[in-house]
Parts: sequence; C-alpha cells; structure tokens
Amino acid sequence: NAKENKRSAACFYDESMELVVTKRAALMRDLRHAVEKGELVLHFQPIVDLADSKLVSFEALLRWRHPSRGFVSPGEFIPIAEESGLILPIGLWVIEEACSVAATWPEHIRFAINLSPRQFSDERLIPTVLGALEKNGVGPARLTVELTETAIIEHDGKALAALRKLRSEGVKIALDDFGTGFASLSYLTKFPFDVVKIDQSFVREASRNNNADVVISSICDLAARLGLDTVAEGIESLDHLELVRKAGCNRGQGYLFGRPEPAIDCSTRIAVETLRGVNAGAIKQIDS
Ligand code: C2E
Ligand code: MG
Ligand code: MG
Ligand code: MG
Repeated sequence: NAKENKRSAACFYDESMELVVTKRAALMRDLRHAVEKGELVLHFQPIVDLADSKLVSFEALLRWRHPSRGFVSPGEFIPIAEESGLILPIGLWVIEEACSVAATWPEHIRFAINLSPRQFSDERLIPTVLGALEKNGVGPARLTVELTETAIIEHDGKALAALRKLRSEGVKIALDDFGTGFASLSYLTKFPFDVVKIDQSFVREASRNNNADVVISSICDLAARLGLDTVAEGIESLDHLELVRKAGCNRGQGYLFGRPEPAIDCSTRIAVETLRGVNAGAIKQIDS
C-alpha cells in the first residue's frame, strides 16, 4: 500500500544519502594529503582566436588522480575543497604550478587560472600570484584570472581590492560562466573585468533553438561596447563554431579545438602550430 511504499522510499533515500555523505567525508580526508602526495595535476585546455582559429591561450584545469578511486572530477572535489578550506593551499599550488608550466611556453601564449571565492580572503593570494610570475620570469600580462559571480557577491570588498591590485600589475580578469548567475549585467560594469566567458549552456541552447543565438550576440554586443573581450565556452562542433562567430565572439574554447590535456601535450600543440606558421610563411615566400 501507499503508506508502506512511502516508508520504503524514505529508507532508500536515507541509505543513499548516507553513502553520499560517507563518500564526501572520505574524499575530504584524502584531499587533505593530495597536494603533498602529488596526486593533483593541472591539465590545460586551448583557447583560440575565432577570427583565424589560432591558439592564443590555455586554461589550467585541476585533475585529481585518487590512488584507489581513480580520476575524481573537479565538479566533485572542488566543492569539497571550498567547503573544507582546503581550496586555499590547493589554490596556491595551482598558481605556482601554472606559472612554472607557462614559463616553458613562448611569450605570445597566454594562460588562465580559476580562483574560488574563498581565495579572495587569503592574504597570500596576491603575493603568491606576483611572486610566482616573477620567479618564473612570466610577464603578468600573460595571466588571466577567472572568477564567477559568487566570488564577487560573497566577498565584495576584498574581491574588488584584490582584482584592482592584480589588474594594476597587468593581470587580466575574466568573469567565468557568465549568464548562469543572477546579477550578471550590472556586475559587468561594477568590476574591473577584461574578459567575459559566456557559459557553455548558451552555446548548447543556441544550437537547439533559434532565439538563444540572439542572447549570445547581445552579450557580445554589450561586452564590446564596454570594451571587454568575449570567450565562448563549450564549442563542440562546426555548427557551434559558426554560431559563435556570427554572434561576434572574439575567442572560443571547447572540445572542437581540444580537450584539457597534460602540459606535455600542450608543448606538442604549440610546436605543431608554430611549424604550420613557419610553413605558411615559406609558401608565401615561394609564391611571391
Ligand atoms: P570552468 O572554469 O568553467 O571550466 C570549463 C569546464 O568546461 C571544464 O570542466 C572543461 O573541461 C569543460 N569543457 C570545456 N570545453 C567543453 C566542451 O566543449 N564541452 C563540455 N561538455 N565541456 C567542456 P572541468 O575541467 O571538469 O572543470 C569544472 C570546473 O571546476 C571549472 O569550470 C572550474 O569552475 C572548476 N575548476 C577547475 N579547475 C579549478 C582550479 O584550479 N581552481 C578552482 N577554484 N576551480 C577549478
Ligand atoms: Mg574557468
Ligand atoms: Mg567556465
Ligand atoms: Mg564552469
């Protein structure tokens, strides 16, 4: 009967909740030692100029190779790291690691790192960023820091001061996942952004329905008027590419151009692209 069904459904719910909670606790415990054990690695995903499809930047994305669970996705462990405060030491490691990898790339290749809201309350943030750039001989103008609206909403004053300081040193600031929050449009003018990253849900939506592309081109329009660059996220197909090009996005990121990959593969990608440029130049010379 209905009553019994309800009760068993409730029991089932409790059990699965317990599993979720236990797994979370276990992950939190293991994450404590992940940095020192060298289980965290950075992968890098290419960002290209949509005008000529040339590689312009890489976004650093965290990966956790858990000794027994295998690969744990950032969607699962970043919230745990944020809640536990572990995002602070992890975040500092990301900054150091990304700068030392970027130092091995040619100077015209830029790079981006993601910052969590809590990191803006960390006094070590700014000195670590500037110190890591300096130590590795990487110009601050090559770095973009990506943050979401929540970083600004939750840590208003501190975030603003930190962003201003970074920007005064030449670091670029990107608003990540634009369009998924609620305070979007007003925040574009209130904070010192250089780049707007249009969330991948827009591209996915626009390829299904005829009106969502109007939203993308309106965002690009607005961004351009405010003097901001746009990056379209989640470009997986040639249809997506055509759509965001038409909408007026400046840059693109997505599986079509490349998945997040280990630093060693980025070096190969850069070398291949450089050779292609050299060959194109040589062919032009022969032609003329
Ligand atoms: P994000 O910063 O918006 O990064 C983009 C995410 O979209 C990445 O997921 C990337 O792998 C994925 N992606 C890129 N192109 C495509 C595509 O064409 N199709 C689809 N379906 N997905 C695509 P990932 O690596 O799982 O990271 C998820 C989120 O975790 C990131 O979103 C970011 O918010 C957070 N995260 C990753 N690394 C760090 C980090 O070092 N620090 C902090 N605080 N957060 C990080
Ligand atoms: Mg990002
Ligand atoms: Mg994003
Ligand atoms: Mg995201």
